[in-house]
Amino acid sequence: MKDLASRIIKQDVIALAKAITLIENNSLQSKELLIKLYPHRKSCHKIGITGPPGAGKSTLVSQILKKYIKKGEKIGVLCVDPSSPFNGGAILGDRIRMQSVYSNKNIFIRSLATRGALGGLSNSISDLEILFEAFGFDKIIYETVGVGQIELDVASYAECVVMVVTPESGDDIQMMKAGLIECSDIIAINKSDRSGSDKMKVVLNQVFELNHDSWKTPILKTVALKNEGIDNICSAIEDHRKYSDLKGLTAKKNTYKYLDSIKSIAKEYMFKEVFTDEVVDKIKKEMEKPLSARISPYQMFYEINKK
Ligand code: GDP
Repeated sequence: MKDLASRIIKQDVIALAKAITLIENNSLQSKELLIKLYPHRKSCHKIGITGPPGAGKSTLVSQILKKYIKKGEKIGVLCVDPSSPFNGGAILGDRIRMQSVYSNKNIFIRSLATRGALGGLSNSISDLEILFEAFGFDKIIYETVGVGQIELDVASYAECVVMVVTPESGDDIQMMKAGLIECSDIIAINKSDRSGSDKMKVVLNQVFELNHDSWKTPILKTVALKNEGIDNICSAIEDHRKYSDLKGLTAKKNTYKYLDSIKSIAKEYMFKEVFTDEVVDKIKKEMEKPLSARISPYQMFYEINKK
């Protein structure tokens, strides 16, 4: 394990892949490894890219990556799909679309899904984050597949969240108004080659008028497919980083995440303690009965917790 840790710190990609498998399998070894790696984390900017499916997130990420590659930066990308199981969690489409940058040695792309029913997605993400930081990536990009609560939670792991919408996203925007304001540090109106992008900008400006934060969320038009507006997105990401550092927001967020990680680990641990094979069988049997014949969930809990 010591050897694996030192290889990771020396940026050995094979060791990195091996460590990811350990984390995916939620093995005891992975916890030991993460304890060893923790003091070796380097400063790393975390960027979340989220938005409705089909808005152009993968295309936008590919373009952003190309800019970062030119600057010689090393980037780790985590494509997070909370709806698919962990094993075989490769979002094939994303990999194909990102192929032009995928083969670059400075880019490491990994798809990530849920870690079974008991382990939370957040645990996997914070584990991988420690691993990526110790490896020494300059940036981590989290790309999520949609705009549900889980995706917004994932995005909140990032220090800067870019919300990608399209000129046609009107209904989505009405639906997620509060979440949108809370979560987005930058908005990209992608597919601005289509009509309606100016109207969308007006709508978004109105939504963000309700926001009283001192950071004024930039609302930027992009055409990811033609590599237009990408420089503006990259500059806005940098501006937001400087702003967050200056205001102490990054440190505050990371402190909050630290506490959150401990809570998640505790939750996973307690779940495992409670849900032994025997208990799972007992619950399954109860669930086979008609609803009216089942004992109450409280009673079930007291019974399984009696031991
Ligand atoms: P994701 O699901 O949000 O990751 O979206 P994708 O990046 O897969 O893009 C969905 C589709 O939109 C693909 O067919 C892209 O080629 C296309 N697309 C991406 N960006 C643009 C854009 O700026 N303009 C237009 N017209 N199409 C785009």
